[in-house]
Amino acid sequence: RTGWLDRLKTGLRKTGSSITTVFTGTRIDDALYEDLETALLLADTGVAATEFLLADLKRRVKDSRATEPAQVKMLLQEAIEEMLAPLEKELVVGEYHPTVIMVAGVNGAGKTTSIGKLTKHLADAGATVLLAAADTFRAAAREQLSVWADRNKVEIISQQGADPSAVSFDAVAAGRARSMDVVLVDTAGRLPTQKHLMEELSKIRRVVTKADVTAPHEVLLVIDGNTGQNALAQVKAFDAAAQLTGLIVTKLDGTAKGGVLCAIAREYPAQGRPMPVYFVGVGEKLEDLQTFRAREFAQALLA
Ligand code: GDP
Repeated sequence: RTGWLDRLKTGLRKTGSSITTVFTGTRIDDALYEDLETALLLADTGVAATEFLLADLKRRVKDSRATEPAQVKMLLQEAIEEMLAPLEKELVVGEYHPTVIMVAGVNGAGKTTSIGKLTKHLADAGATVLLAAADTFRAAAREQLSVWADRNKVEIISQQGADPSAVSFDAVAAGRARSMDVVLVDTAGRLPTQKHLMEELSKIRRVVTKADVTAPHEVLLVIDGNTGQNALAQVKAFDAAAQLTGLIVTKLDGTAKGGVLCAIAREYPAQGRPMPVYFVGVGEKLEDLQTFRAREFAQALLA
């Protein structure tokens, strides 16, 4: 079994739009920058972030008096790393009892799997975790979450057909009563276009705050790394509905292009605050959840 960084590299390389091939020539000229622009756009970097990176790179090339495309590649890696650095953040639990973490996302993004991985991550760190199955509608969703609860030997609060807000309220109250370290609330998958479901998410958030005025402490959006530029639209929509505090980006071991993180990094400080990426998913196993590191990601993107 290969290491996760290798899987990330392989995943990001599979796209065929490999950015690194741009630097195989011998000259730093307009053609190189044009090819790079195309490669960045194909990697889902988006127009704004691509323009920013190109301008930044040209400045770096000038300042460093680089003469070889290989040097330009290293400068691009630096520029990407610098751009992504504000997305790095450690998920801290322990300040509140319980720390309430809501998790949202569209169906199939890897939300339930990520909750299982996150539960293991927290339990391994010694935290007591209570899971709340706020997807009360889909029986399969509740079952899947109980499987993760069993595997991690943690308790779960689940009630078929109940109101998702009510289950979340109960879970937070139970978490307080039992002095749990973390309450993880799994919400149903939903699309930004499903207005009533986005409102339901806002309501869950409000009701969680009624159970504990300081909560939720984290509202995480799980996005599929393959979603491309649509991921940015998802971030904005879920942020508007539930005031996100961070992201988990999944499936970066697959065919994801990765550039969308640059798009998010470009967009979010522009909105006055960063949108941290707490974790990246690089496989289907419990241990395949990794802390996001800008340097490693920039290296993998250009591998
Ligand atoms: P949900 O609908 O958002 O809860 O999505 P699931 O957690 O059920 O995941 C959907 C599919 O994606 C499942 O087959 C997961 O095994 C798979 N998956 C989730 N995260 C990752 C990841 O990081 N890498 C890979 N390769 N597959 C993943």
